[in-house]
Amino acid sequence: MNTFKVSSQTNSILEPRKKPYENRRHNFKNLMGMEMLSSAIESIETIIVDLPTIRPHKLAMHTMQHQTLVLIRLRCADGIEGLGEATTIGGLAYGNESPDSIKTNIDRFFTPLLLGHDGANINAAMQRLERSIRGNTFAKSGIESALLDAHGKRLGLPVSELLGGRVRDALPVAWTLASGDTAKDIAEAEKMLDLRRHRIFKLKIGAGEVDRDLAHVIAIKKALGDRASVRVDVNQAWDEAVAVRACRVLGSNGIDLIEQPISRNNRAGMVRLNAISPAPIMADESIECVEDAFNLAREGAASVFALKIAKNGGPRAVLRTAAIAEAAGIGLYGGTMLEGGIGTLASAHAFLTLNTLSWDTELFGPLLLTEDILVEPPLYRDFQLHVSRAPGLGLSLDEDRLAFLRRDKA
Ligand SMILES: [Mg+2]
Repeated sequence: MNTFKVSSQTNSILEPRKKPYENRRHNFKNLMGMEMLSSAIESIETIIVDLPTIRPHKLAMHTMQHQTLVLIRLRCADGIEGLGEATTIGGLAYGNESPDSIKTNIDRFFTPLLLGHDGANINAAMQRLERSIRGNTFAKSGIESALLDAHGKRLGLPVSELLGGRVRDALPVAWTLASGDTAKDIAEAEKMLDLRRHRIFKLKIGAGEVDRDLAHVIAIKKALGDRASVRVDVNQAWDEAVAVRACRVLGSNGIDLIEQPISRNNRAGMVRLNAISPAPIMADESIECVEDAFNLAREGAASVFALKIAKNGGPRAVLRTAAIAEAAGIGLYGGTMLEGGIGTLASAHAFLTLNTLSWDTELFGPLLLTEDILVEPPLYRDFQLHVSRAPGLGLSLDEDRLAFLRRDKA
């Protein structure tokens, strides 16, 4: 555990002189009799938590046996605590950040930049990080989520209202069928339909032989028919020649959406595929920052964008990508990094504010876990995730579960 306490003395040496307006709000005297901002960030704690999953989760580049999340606990001088989460799928097998790098980078580089600064001014706090730290969008997303949670609690408002206001209270949620076994996947889909939990199914393909993968997907679509939307996620596994053929086969067999069929590096190939595929192409790994989204939109490389707070740097940052997509006439899908409850609700609060969310969401991360660290798990009912209007992210930690599941427990 790494907890950094604010030292107003160190702060005054390292920091440039504050402009007169910066320290005026809700000031009070600290124990040393020095003037302090009540919403000043006092400590940031990062905790790696390993959570078991209900089954192995097979992706083109990795098979998950458990999920590891980095919990971020940000405390302000007024006693308000904000929670955030930074979670990857498969760590460095998927992207540039791992739970260990996220923890190290927040502890050593993010936290010293934020201590003593106003936790209530999220624009200024995130700008401060952006100026000194490139990339690291997963870590930034966790911090931004914690700042929003804290400020929502401070104002008595849900995060969705801090983001401009929600236009829905619930989000339809897809389920990923990832056992790799056709009969098992069909049985799992039927069970989800019976339970009224999911009627959108995403199949993870690309790791196996192409024709076997296509036969697997088509068999599942045939079994489910019009009762469900069936989509595939290739996680960049195909080359363009394979993708041209496979997209045609999938599109003509009722598959609704094809996610990231080829490498994020082959953007020209994505443009060509998007022009000929009978099913829409969705960009996922292609978007590692808001600027990626702009370039994809400009080039016509995808007709749908997967929105992920972790890839953009937070719930506010992901709305910038959404705005680019809306301006370009690109459809939106609320994506996940298979976060636990905190990251899932941070994503949900952002997605609740979108004008249109034509392709719904895949915010099912908490359902893949056998344990979580929240007092009340997120509420899934009637094919949707329902999001309360409680202040902040609307959740509280189960401290006993956290103590048991944290990696560094004594
Ligand atoms: Mg994906």
